[in-house]
Amino acid sequence: MRMKELRELALAYRKAPINNIEPVLKEFFEEMDPQKKGFVAFKEFSVYMENLGRPELCSEEFFSKLNQDGSGKLDDMDVVTLFYIVHSRLPFCNSCKKFIEGTSYLVCVKCFHGNNNGKTDANEESFNVCTTCYLDEKFKHHHNEFLDPNLLLRHLRMMQIVANSSTPSATDPVVADNSSNLSANNQLKAGSSSKSINQTSFIVALELALGVGNFIGCSIM
Ligand SMILES: [Zn+2]
Ligand SMILES: [Zn+2]
Repeated sequence: MRMKELRELALAYRKAPINNIEPVLKEFFEEMDPQKKGFVAFKEFSVYMENLGRPELCSEEFFSKLNQDGSGKLDDMDVVTLFYIVHSRLPFCNSCKKFIEGTSYLVCVKCFHGNNNGKTDANEESFNVCTTCYLDEKFKHHHNEFLDPNLLLRHLRMMQIVANSSTPSATDPVVADNSSNLSANNQLKAGSSSKSINQTSFIVALELALGVGNFIGCSIM
């Protein structure tokens, strides 16, 4: 997603009547602008991001992308966009550490699911690589199943559809993968033994996403 689209999204969330987000946004701004200057300079911005535990956000390059008018001072809307980026955990390449604009990146499916020995941990970081790093094989990671965000969404949707179907079949690899994750304490201790199963289910899920996903058509996305 481009910065312009991000700004529009952030604005949409700000305006949505269901989100009474203004007080939170105000607090976020004030925390970065303790001297009430009415703007946030790079120094305050980077200190705040460091304190937030998000050092990947501290680059001047990212700051200048955020700073729409190029003044070196983040205004209200820049900060709202930043708030969205921080809280939606928009992707930074885990290899080159750059903010990923657009959707040309790949997400580790395992890390996305927070699958830590079968335990789902919502706080676990996702692992993303930009296509440049992915193609150059510049990155190191202990999982090898990657999907782009679009396919990942389809993959999740397919998993949901399969999980919701009234007659789940044990031979269905997606279901099998799901259930093995649930009983992971018994089955996934070693990790490596489940690799081939998960690999197969991943490929099937990918095929489902590409094939059946289109076939089911309007129910997908
Ligand atoms: Zn990269
Ligand atoms: Zn991973």
